[in-house]
Amino acid sequence: MSHFPLHNLTIRAFQKGIREKEFSAEEVTREYLDAIDSKNGDLNAYLGVFHDSALESAKRVDVMVADGGELPALAGAPLALKDNILVEGTRTTAGSKILENYTASYDAKVTELLKDQNAVFLGKTNLDEFAMGSSTENSAFGPTKNPHDPSRVPGGSSGGSAAVVAGGLALAALGSDTGGSIRQPAAFCGVVGLKPTYGAVSRRGLIAMASSLDQIGPITKTVEDAAIMFDAIRGEDSYDSTSADAEKVHPLDFKENEIGNLKIGIPKEFFTPDLDKRVAKEMENVMDKLKDLGFQFASISLPHVHYALSVYYIIMPAEVSANLARFDGMRYSRSQMSNVESQKLSEIYLRTRGLGFGDEAKRRILLGTFVLSAGYYDAYYAKAQKVRSLIARDFEEAWKSVDVILSPTTPTPAFKLGEKLEDPLEMYLSDIFTIPANLTGLPAISIPAVSHSNPSRIRTNENRIFDPHSGSFDVSSSGLPVGFQLIGKRFHERDILGIGQYYEGL
Ligand code: GLN
Repeated sequence: MSHFPLHNLTIRAFQKGIREKEFSAEEVTREYLDAIDSKNGDLNAYLGVFHDSALESAKRVDVMVADGGELPALAGAPLALKDNILVEGTRTTAGSKILENYTASYDAKVTELLKDQNAVFLGKTNLDEFAMGSSTENSAFGPTKNPHDPSRVPGGSSGGSAAVVAGGLALAALGSDTGGSIRQPAAFCGVVGLKPTYGAVSRRGLIAMASSLDQIGPITKTVEDAAIMFDAIRGEDSYDSTSADAEKVHPLDFKENEIGNLKIGIPKEFFTPDLDKRVAKEMENVMDKLKDLGFQFASISLPHVHYALSVYYIIMPAEVSANLARFDGMRYSRSQMSNVESQKLSEIYLRTRGLGFGDEAKRRILLGTFVLSAGYYDAYYAKAQKVRSLIARDFEEAWKSVDVILSPTTPTPAFKLGEKLEDPLEMYLSDIFTIPANLTGLPAISIPAVSHSNPSRIRTNENRIFDPHSGSFDVSSSGLPVGFQLIGKRFHERDILGIGQYYEGL
């Protein structure tokens, strides 16, 4: 069998390929496993690989194909899951030493839904510890590298998921997004990342970071693939009381004649002169292309949005401190760090948590405990909740005149490994454009300004992409991917997915 161009294989092309018997699910799965075996040592994007069970699942799908039955949308699709999503009977670390020996005792709802579709799980991907970070450098298991430039970070916290999709080590992946962790790594790695509306996808079996902000979503090569994945994982779950039935309209069902009716808002607060020049230039190109497609634009204002980062760094640590209290060395996995038999309970807690959590987790537990403590609760936590409502009101106001909001996904392209490690505030700033959608629960997607998966474009030795149509290197001047973000109304994933699909069809 010839080698498939795994870099360019989409879910859509895979569906067609197995149905038309161009290839089998087993062949494609083997290709991915080979690619993982040869490249993961350098990228460090997978923390665990399911060689045997992946091949078994793929073979089952090949039998289904041979039987000629109806195939679910993701049947046989080789996928990767972020390692904070539970898969029964397998190790789930959340990137933390404290969960180094934890085996999941049940499936996450999304895992269950993907198993129902007969998807193939290739493995679990690297992340910042408990999803706290923007570079995957906070993982207890070493940083992941950006496949476009191994001296740079892939973004975070779903850096492993973005890297395996961009690097041809999985057809698509799931990540989680609390303040930007799907969209920011997608932008840094030149792939698509969707954070659904809060509640559109069940959080059951996602190791919680900040429960009022967390959402699971897909990381894929194309917007169409993101829509296929989103459709497979969305829906109400009686075990997650914050989940709700997402829009009934199929996310792929977007008609060309709707283009003229959708107005895109440009918030003046997100387009300031200090925006990185490479990002600013790409944003101009994106707007020009969308105008050519027939979309209308309007300038808008979100007056409270510049408080979003501060509000996030009060509410998120407060929830983190509560959620991480359960990791005490007694539950979830017996502590390897202390001799449980010979110590007092308080000593076991202290020793396990002291040795088991990394610096960033400790920093946030301290911050969160502080803002919730007596005397400070009103001054910090309660006030932050009020400002959160003001930010939500800004968006409500914006929806009176526009349907979708456009912004860059990140203030800069991927930065160098180590560059921001000593300066947490600098690191926090990389989520400045993504956090508002989490605080307000709105759906948002990051799309590469220039497609890195379009087969007609040619990847050069330097990994830059040559576009034969324009005759130019059609990425940012440094050759690094740049993403743009579309934010939609609650449960209107279809709008942002629809616009995205027209954009990438160019
Ligand atoms: N980078 C942000 C943080 O460090 C967002 C993380 C996330 O979305 N999980 O909190």
